[in-house]
Amino acid sequence: MNIKRLISITVIFSVLTVSSITTVQAVSDDSVTVYSSRKEHLIKPLFEAFTKDTGIQVDYLTGKGGALIERLKLEGSSTPADMFMTVDAGNLWYAGSQDLFQNVQTETLKSNIPAYLRDPQGLWTGLSVRARTIVYSTQRVEPSELSTYADLASPKWKGRLCLRTSKKIYTKSLTASVIYNHGESKAGEIISGWVNNLAATPNAKDSHVMNAILSGQCDVGLVNTYYFGRLIEKNPNAALKLFWANQDTTGVHVNVSGAGVIKNASNAKGAITLLEWLSSAKAQAIYGSLNKEYPANQNIASDGMVSSWGTFKQDNMNLSQAGILQAKAVKLMQIKGYK
Ligand code: FE
Repeated sequence: MNIKRLISITVIFSVLTVSSITTVQAVSDDSVTVYSSRKEHLIKPLFEAFTKDTGIQVDYLTGKGGALIERLKLEGSSTPADMFMTVDAGNLWYAGSQDLFQNVQTETLKSNIPAYLRDPQGLWTGLSVRARTIVYSTQRVEPSELSTYADLASPKWKGRLCLRTSKKIYTKSLTASVIYNHGESKAGEIISGWVNNLAATPNAKDSHVMNAILSGQCDVGLVNTYYFGRLIEKNPNAALKLFWANQDTTGVHVNVSGAGVIKNASNAKGAITLLEWLSSAKAQAIYGSLNKEYPANQNIASDGMVSSWGTFKQDNMNLSQAGILQAKAVKLMQIKGYK
C-alpha cells in the first residue's frame, strides 16, 4: 500500500462528499485512480473491461466536473488521482489551464485519435465524440429549408428557434466554434440573429429544447445527438429529426468527452496505459454503445441507432479552441443578449 495515496484517500473520505467510489481498500501500487465527471454507469463497464484485459484495477470517484477540478487543485501533490475524465473540450482545456495535467503524447494515442480531438500539447485526449447539430419538427420544417448554424439567424426562423442557455458549456463551445469559423464580428451578427429568432427564453437542457419543438412552441433547435437518441428510444414516433449542419462548409460542430493524466499522478504509467486502452478499438466500441456517442477513434464504426442517423462531415477545428475562445464566446453572448 502506498502510504501517500492511503492518506490522501482517507482525507477525501473524511472531508469531501463523493457520489461514488469503488472499494478504496483495494488500492494497490499499480492500481489507477480516476476522478470522473462522467456518471458511473458510463465508465464502470469500461474500467471493468480494462481490468480484465490488463489486470490493473481502477478506483474511481464521480462528481461534478467543476468540483472535481477544485478538489484536484486543493489536493495538489498529495492527490490520489492519476487521471481526470470529463465532458466537453472547454472543461478539459480549463483543467489543463489550471496546471492539473501532464503532457502525454504517445504513438498509440496519435494513431488512434485524430489531432483535432487532442490537446496540441498533449494535456488531454478526446475519447468519445458528441455532435451538436440541428433538430427540427418533421411537421413544420422541410429539411431543404435547413443548412447551417448561421442560417438559423436568418429572419425566416423568427419566433421558431429554441436554444439551450448560454450558461452551459456546450453552448459556450459551439459559440467558440462560430467565432473560430466566422470571426468575432460575423459571429456577433449570428448570435444576434439567433436571439432575435428565439421563440422562448433559452432552455436549461437539450431535452427541453426537443420537448418545446414537440409541443409546437418552436420548430428548430440545436442539440447533442445522444439526447435525441434517448428521446427517440422512449418515443420512437416523435415528429423530430436531426439535420447535419454545415455540410457544404465547415462541418458539424463536434466536441468530446476525454481525459488527461494528472500532473502529480503517483501512477502516471498506469494512467497512460488506461488512456491508451480507452482509445483502442475495443474500448471505443463500448463507449459508443453506452451513450450513443461517436467513436473518437475514426477506424471504428458507430453503434446501431447512431449509425442509422447517417454519416456526416465533422468540423475539424482543434478542440483546444473551445477553451481558448471560451471567454470571448461568453462575452459575445452577453453583449448580444443571449441568456
Ligand atoms: Fe450531455
